[in-house]
Amino acid sequence: MVPQHPQQWRRWIQLFLYDAIVIEEMSRVRAHGLMMGLHSDICLPYLVSFGSEEQKNTWLPAMQKGEKLGCFGLTEPDFGSNPGGMRTRAKNVGKEYVLNGEKMWITSGTIADVAVIWAKVEDEADKVRGFLVETDRPGFKAADIHGKWSLRASVTSGLSLQDVHIPESNLLPGSDGLKSPLMCLNQARFGIAWGAIGAAMACYDCALQYSLLRKQFRDQPIASHQLVQEKLAWMISEITKAQLLVLQVGRLKDTGKVQHQHISMAKRNNVWMALECARLSRDILGANGVADDYPIMRHLMNLESVKTYEGTHDIHTLIIGASVTGIDAF
Ligand SMILES: Cc1cc2nc3c(=O)[nH]c(=O)nc-3n(C[C@H](O)[C@H](O)[C@H](O)COP(=O)(O)OP(=O)(O)OC[C@H]3O[C@@H](n4cnc5c(N)ncnc54)[C@H](O)[C@@H]3O)c2cc1C
Repeated sequence: MVPQHPQQWRRWIQLFLYDAIVIEEMSRVRAHGLMMGLHSDICLPYLVSFGSEEQKNTWLPAMQKGEKLGCFGLTEPDFGSNPGGMRTRAKNVGKEYVLNGEKMWITSGTIADVAVIWAKVEDEADKVRGFLVETDRPGFKAADIHGKWSLRASVTSGLSLQDVHIPESNLLPGSDGLKSPLMCLNQARFGIAWGAIGAAMACYDCALQYSLLRKQFRDQPIASHQLVQEKLAWMISEITKAQLLVLQVGRLKDTGKVQHQHISMAKRNNVWMALECARLSRDILGANGVADDYPIMRHLMNLESVKTYEGTHDIHTLIIGASVTGIDAF
């Protein structure tokens, strides 16, 4: 049923603590479906936060059921961490906007029905605003990026917009500057911080079981060697610390007290922690660690992307640094 009240819209898409724990468990099996995450944790919140009632009624019911798929176009070939430099432009012509530009690394770009495209509006002193662009409009092209060694189950694409005409009503009316695309990313980053723990738990479980069965030297399991135990102890301690961190962030979120730097801390720490767990687990499995009979290498490769998207590890470092010092180091 389509929500009738803004409060209901918010609940419909807001990621609460118990939703996040589901993501953690799902990610033990496979990286928190990027396609699903982009669609439900990014595109839907943008529509709810910045869309008109007409846009919500047109898109949200079908998107929520998975009948229509969304993609999110912020990154450009020359502007990733610094989206403020974007070159994509929108020009108001009569009752339409005309969009021109290139986007890069866009999840689901070739299979989406609608793209949320961020562009500078020429008639509004280059203010960044969001637009809904149906992907079958003339002038809109998408092409997949091939040769990815990471998150290979999801499609990643380059988008090209050449004189794409859209009606004025496709502007997301609530979008207002660069802060708008950055705002909703917090939702996705919170989910990522939980998903990373799931990946770390899968790697740890695998390494623990393997170390109890694999024997080297005096017919003893490698789990009996102190250096192997040190790796297992490190992993279980860091996984537990990461859970406590994101649990606290979730509690702040549920009570409306969360700040963006809290979420940066959780995303940065937990993805780093998961990557370290994947590397240690891979090591414990020796040569078997690089084989696809075990899930570790897949998690390791996927986590390399997770470290980069939704704000790189180092960009989150700078966000935390700016918060504690009051000095912006970007
Ligand atoms: C699999 C995948 C899916 C993606 N899906 C989407 C999507 O759906 N939509 C979308 O819009 N984008 C998407 N992205 C893009 C992603 O958000 C960008 O890759 C990310 O923002 C980083 O940008 P960049 O790759 O251009 O790296 P750059 O910004 O060029 O950064 C390169 C390096 O420089 C460092 N760096 C940059 N600036 C500074 C600074 N001031 N100080 C210190 N270090 C700095 C970075 O930390 C990084 O280590 C996706 C990326 C991947 C890998």
